[in-house]
Amino acid sequence: MMKRKLAAGNWKMNGTTPSLAELQALVSVHKTPSVDILICPPATLIAQAAGISADSTIMIGAQDCHAAASGAHTGDISAPMLADAGAGAVILGHSERRENHNETSDLVAKKALAAHAASLIALVCLGETLAQREGAQTLDVIADQLAGSLPDGTTGANTVIAYEPIWAIGTGLTPSLEQIGEVHAFIRSRLDDRFGAGAAQDFRLLYGGSVKPENAAEIFATSNVDGALVGGASLKADDFSPIINALE
Ligand code: PEP
Repeated sequence: MMKRKLAAGNWKMNGTTPSLAELQALVSVHKTPSVDILICPPATLIAQAAGISADSTIMIGAQDCHAAASGAHTGDISAPMLADAGAGAVILGHSERRENHNETSDLVAKKALAAHAASLIALVCLGETLAQREGAQTLDVIADQLAGSLPDGTTGANTVIAYEPIWAIGTGLTPSLEQIGEVHAFIRSRLDDRFGAGAAQDFRLLYGGSVKPENAAEIFATSNVDGALVGGASLKADDFSPIINALE
């Protein structure tokens, strides 16, 4: 399988209609990118964003979905609904969902299954807390989250993995390149164990946590890093564009 690198932006709960000018700017600048670009705006903007990116290669994604396709789940949005609105991917198991909404890996796996059934790429997030990092538990935490969050049927085509240390998200702190390389190599070896060496190579492993134009190139040069999931620096095209360029 041809594995293209991926620059993914997570706008979180930020953005109203005027913010779509940032997406328009990315569409205008990155006409024939050699990497994949994914923008995940809030759900309210997905349909408009999909319209703006329709004639470009930029994919639009969501930030969460329900595990069921439909039903009595007030306020929730299903994977088929996201696909219908124009999404091609969905972030699942972001640490803010795991922490603020008590999402377990088991639930993330059910959501990933729903995403796959709706032909959405599941972008599954994993990451340790600072206490876990300092307690030398990082690899155990990642192993548990990885094993629990990927449903049967997971492939490198329908799933992307993002390693996002919780203590690095929105803090300006980043792990050392050695620490990033260690966790990414570990994730790849666990994917080898479960899916086989050939299949494991198909997965794109993103790093996320305070990626900025200033540190993107060195992070992307780290082995087993196939791109980034970017929060704050994806909100403005002037910040996200150089990150995309660093990946190309
Ligand atoms: C994120 O929330 O996925 C993230 C990586 O945020 P930031 O880039 O702002 O640290």
